[in-house]
Amino acid sequence: MIKENASKILSELPKGIELVAAAKGRTSAEIQEAVSAGIKIIGENYIQEAQNAFDAIGNTVKWHFIGHLQRNKVKKAVKVFDMIETVDSFKIAHEIDRQCGLIHKTMYILIEINSGREAQKFGVMPEEALKLIKELSKLKNINIMGLMTMGPMMEDAQEARPYFKETKSIFENLRKHNIENVKMQYLSMGMSNSYKVAIEEGANMVRIGTAIFGER
Ligand SMILES: *Cc1c(COP(=O)(O)O)cnc(C)c1O
Repeated sequence: MIKENASKILSELPKGIELVAAAKGRTSAEIQEAVSAGIKIIGENYIQEAQNAFDAIGNTVKWHFIGHLQRNKVKKAVKVFDMIETVDSFKIAHEIDRQCGLIHKTMYILIEINSGREAQKFGVMPEEALKLIKELSKLKNINIMGLMTMGPMMEDAQEARPYFKETKSIFENLRKHNIENVKMQYLSMGMSNSYKVAIEEGANMVRIGTAIFGER
C-alpha cells in the first residue's frame, strides 16, 4: 500500500509542491518502498532512526530533520541531514553553524514558527521571527531558506487555516525585508489531515506521514 499511497499523493499534488515523507517509526524497508514510488525527500524526527535509515538508503534522496533538535545531537544531525526544518533559537542555530564549520558543510534551514502561540510547543513566536532571522543571517555555515509550522492539532483541518494564513503572511513580510543571506523560498506546512488546506494557504512543502505509510 505504501507505494500506491505515495504514487497517488505525488500525482495529485499541484506542481511546485515539495513532498516530504514523514517517516518517524517506519522501517528502512517501508521508507524504501516510498522511495521506489518517487519520493525524493524523507523527513525524520529522531537522530538515531534517521541514521539507521540513512545507512540503508543513502543520499539518493534528501533528508530533512523535522523533529525537535537538542544541542547534543547536532553533531550527528549535520552529517545526515540536507535541511533542518525546525530551527527556533540562536543557541541551536549557532551549534549547527559551528558543527557545519567543522565538516565544511553548509546547512539549509527553515525557521519553525509557533503559529498557535502554544506555551508547550516549539518554534519561535511570530512576532520574534524577524529579529531571530536577522541574527541568524550572519552565521556563515547556514542558509535560511524559509519557514515551517506545525500549528495546533485540530480535528478539522479547516480550523488550522488561520495558523497557516498567519505563517504565510510572516513569510511574505520577511520576503519584503530582503535580508542578506536569507531566502524565503520554502513554506513547509500541512500534514496528512491538513495539507490540502495548507496548500490553499500558500504552502509549497508538505510533510505527510500517515497518508503514505498508514496509521502509526
Ligand atoms: C509526524 C509528523 C508529520 C506527519 O504527520 P502525519 O499526520 O502522520 O501526516 C509532519 N510533520 C511533523 C513535524 C511530524 O512530526
